[in-house]
Amino acid sequence: MDKIKNPRSVLHALEPIGLGTAEVESLLSYFCRLAVSHSTSTLSLSRAVARRFEHDVEEQFDWYHRQLSGMGEAALTWSGALSALTSVPRLDRLTFLPWKDVIAQNGLPILSNGQFCLQCLAEDQASGRTPYFRLAWESKLVSVCNKHRVRLTTHCPCCGKDKVRHAAALVVPGWCTRCGAFLGSETHDHLANIKPVELWRSRQIGALLAAQDQLGELPQRQHLIDVVRHIIEEMDGGQSARFAKRVGVAKATVHYWLQTDKTPTLEACLAMASQSGISLTQLLTGDLHDWKPPAEGQQLALALFKPEPRRRVPSRELDWGEIEHQLQRFLLLPTPISVREAARRLEVEPRQLYLNSNRTARQLGERYMAYRKRRRQANLNAAMPHLEAAGREVLSEGKALNLREMTARVPPQVLSSVQGLFDVLRDVQANIELSPNMR
Ligand SMILES: [Zn+2]
Ligand SMILES: [Zn+2]
Repeated sequence: MDKIKNPRSVLHALEPIGLGTAEVESLLSYFCRLAVSHSTSTLSLSRAVARRFEHDVEEQFDWYHRQLSGMGEAALTWSGALSALTSVPRLDRLTFLPWKDVIAQNGLPILSNGQFCLQCLAEDQASGRTPYFRLAWESKLVSVCNKHRVRLTTHCPCCGKDKVRHAAALVVPGWCTRCGAFLGSETHDHLANIKPVELWRSRQIGALLAAQDQLGELPQRQHLIDVVRHIIEEMDGGQSARFAKRVGVAKATVHYWLQTDKTPTLEACLAMASQSGISLTQLLTGDLHDWKPPAEGQQLALALFKPEPRRRVPSRELDWGEIEHQLQRFLLLPTPISVREAARRLEVEPRQLYLNSNRTARQLGERYMAYRKRRRQANLNAAMPHLEAAGREVLSEGKALNLREMTARVPPQVLSSVQGLFDVLRDVQANIELSPNMR
């Protein structure tokens, strides 16, 4: 584990991963790793932190509903609290907070489902690094991995379920919170219909995050507005209405930026950057040096990055011969996948698979269930000695066998691999009580 010994900090002084790069870790990821490092659940750690730094902790407090890595109150409170407890300075660098003054408060949408790049996680594991979540993944405007040029996903590659990354009481970054499978994998890239604008957007945001560690001073709104004014002057002869049309926002919006204290959203900043050829980082840091208005031909190319109006997707003719062929291929995958996951990869509904490719879909389902059962048993066998040893200790101290006592004694990796943990703990307790001489 990459922790620094620091006797003066309350929590381990974990080293944040990827500072100063486009792959900088998110605060949410840091928080999850911190819980793992202390052999506790994210639920207990969140309650401990919240109790210490926020006045009221509601009974239903769910840490993962807070936008820890964003730009708002939660990011401010939690980066400060974790810096204080770990003695690692400036954990706000794992959030979007450094851009607080130059992006509108509601102008940086954060994705709550928890998206991730299958290949980034696979690479983390293959290279012996701790798998972690990248800050860039938290932004709704990032839809692809710039490094691997694949689409980010919110679904487990094994069970196919959604919200599997971190929304749970016990999280080990990189493992599915629903089925326990590793979330990294080689991507099936037949969905590779990635638009150039998506890659461009994630590259710009990646560069922004790489830059935020090196900022001399925090970016200021006035510098951004000066740059916008200069660009309007150079490209549109000072006519903000023309500029508004160029970047696809209302005329009044540009007026508010220039004449009142309104700040552009991240999306609007991306549109301005794409239309003027300035980088997002330069725009937001108010850095005009070496920017020139693009020449006519160049403008045409830049125009390609203009945000498109949303269009209705026409309904698709399904080629069931081809789908059957793909299903047969899925049957040969070394790691079986669920029918739900197969349907997701083929962009159809699971029930459509059962209706039209019934036999193969059922085979796929049976193969997956058998695999799940084997894996569950293997995990349980591996975890049992840990659970029994910890269980005896807890009971001999006259305490109850609950999640809190177990997370303090059993590594989170082991606990999170056990399905139906509460039933298992009941069995463990019954077994120990049946054989008192084993205590
Ligand atoms: Zn990646
Ligand atoms: Zn899963």
